[in-house]
Amino acid sequence: MKETLQSFYKDAFAKIDKDLTEQQKFLIENPQKKISFEIPLVRSNGQLDVFKGFRVQHNNLNGPFKGGLRFSPNVTMEHCEVLASLMTLKTSLTGLPFGGGKGGVTCNPKKLSNKELSEVVDKLVNTIHTSIGSKIDIPAPDMGTNAEIMKMIFQSYSQTRGYSPGVVTGKPIHMSGLKGRNEATGKGAALIAKWTFEKHFDKIDTSKVSIQGFGNVGKFTAKFLSDMGAKIVAVSNSSKCLYNEKGIEIDKLLENLEKEQKNSLSQIDDLSIYGEHESSDKIFEISSNIFIPAATENTITDKTVKLLSADIIIEAANMPTTHLADKWLQTNNKILVPDILASAGGVIASYFEWSQNAQNEQWEKSEVYKKIEKKLSDTWSYVVNSKKKKNTYRETCYMIAIERLIKSMPLSYSESN
Ligand code: GLU
Repeated sequence: MKETLQSFYKDAFAKIDKDLTEQQKFLIENPQKKISFEIPLVRSNGQLDVFKGFRVQHNNLNGPFKGGLRFSPNVTMEHCEVLASLMTLKTSLTGLPFGGGKGGVTCNPKKLSNKELSEVVDKLVNTIHTSIGSKIDIPAPDMGTNAEIMKMIFQSYSQTRGYSPGVVTGKPIHMSGLKGRNEATGKGAALIAKWTFEKHFDKIDTSKVSIQGFGNVGKFTAKFLSDMGAKIVAVSNSSKCLYNEKGIEIDKLLENLEKEQKNSLSQIDDLSIYGEHESSDKIFEISSNIFIPAATENTITDKTVKLLSADIIIEAANMPTTHLADKWLQTNNKILVPDILASAGGVIASYFEWSQNAQNEQWEKSEVYKKIEKKLSDTWSYVVNSKKKKNTYRETCYMIAIERLIKSMPLSYSESN
């Protein structure tokens, strides 16, 4: 992942007209601060587990560090560094008053009881409470975390530092959360998919879409696109791919998941009422116009990219494409909209949650949707207008984000000798 990000930076630096000094480039690429800590936990069976915790504060030139907190046994400091850097690019590209950060704990939340989970959160907050805060660093949900965990952080932090809803975003609605935050990343990805398809091809209701990943982001991307009339021909998770040439009935599938209180595609007993199913890698082979990676990192590799029939790739996940695959897409004239734009709906909504908290207000969902759509469409138009033919969307988005960061640096940083 680190090499991929370095290559994307290198591509963008080479295209920026202005000469950037090595020091400026260093400041843009590297984190300002890395925090690492341990979280010991005595499990209910008496066993002692020790989890590792990380928070990377990448850049705060434009405002407090901002970004998700991941609970996953696989999270590493290097992961957090890359993802924090992407957050800086995301907030800079969208013009939000935030910088970038990312953190994680190496626990599997599904294997912890609620009591154990709240102990992990309390220890996390005890360790880093002086480094986070509504004006310092604002965590949010990410892989393995959700509104309930944000509520725990908010409550635990408020115990020591006083009532502070702005310390995290993605909280439950009744606890100063934002109506519409939960579905915002999916909404953003669906809008970007629509605008991209309509700019380069045809009306969205003529498109066929396949979505890799059916967690929070994938589900809502599918729902919003299906509401726009697109045909969702395939969805997958880590074990299954469900496909139907005529289009999967997304509303029915989501209702079914909810009614049966099931979280994942694999838990549905009778998937065949929605279409055929096979193992998850089948997703790359289904014929579609738009492919949306909404799962995890590095899924579009130099091998899987060659299986894709879609002309448009919308990166709803963070870093799903390797550098080699990215180059292949470029030479084969495929259009890719990068994560720092396609998955920015979440952090845009987080900005509105943070603003709402600062004003002690609660906005209606329709108002929130309008605000998210406006911010994203302004960013999209800016990207489209700035994009030169010879540059990709990824290069253009990186260039805009980097140039804004350069402008925010003290003047003295660009003085030679
Ligand atoms: N975890 C999300 C992301 O990667 C949201 C971050 C946030 O809202 O701060 O963009």
